[in-house]
Amino acid sequence: MTDVHTPERRRHNMQSVRGRDTKPEMLIRSGLHARGLRYRLHHRGLPGKPDLVFPKHRALILVHGCFWHGHACPLFKWPKTRQEFWHEKIEGNRTRDRRTIEALHQAGWRILIVWECSMRGPKRLVLQDLLNEAEHFVAQSERTFRSLAGSEATGGSSEKSSRFSINARPESICSEKVRKNGTN
Ligand code: ZN
Repeated sequence: MTDVHTPERRRHNMQSVRGRDTKPEMLIRSGLHARGLRYRLHHRGLPGKPDLVFPKHRALILVHGCFWHGHACPLFKWPKTRQEFWHEKIEGNRTRDRRTIEALHQAGWRILIVWECSMRGPKRLVLQDLLNEAEHFVAQSERTFRSLAGSEATGGSSEKSSRFSINARPESICSEKVRKNGTN
């Protein structure tokens, strides 16, 4: 199968995914602000400059793009070109994510990861439900870690992923596994 995107187009797509004020993040921000939650953005004093920080609740939200963070879900596909480059890049991001989460956890922060696939694509959740879950995690729950993903993606909102665990993340992602998941 040929790559349908020109290099320029792909670069553009990836830049927009990587940008700070991505659409999923904006939806989370405006939704939680409307519910009365106040946060700091991209707090430079914390590991990984977390997207939303709720100092009063000792909680923070990381909004993860599924491509850049190598999520095992329908939104992630290994690029067909420059495979070695992308493998190194994505695995590097995943390693950095694990270290960042570990450091934030050690510093006593409660962490909610909101994956892009919870808001976009075939497995997306109802936005109000997602915002309810996020609000509950930040303001009412004492859980230390939670990950919200699209309805059938690995690392979803099941009880299994409610406790903080580095090992809760998928072991590794290979294109075979992703392809299989994508066709189920
Ligand atoms: Zn995903």
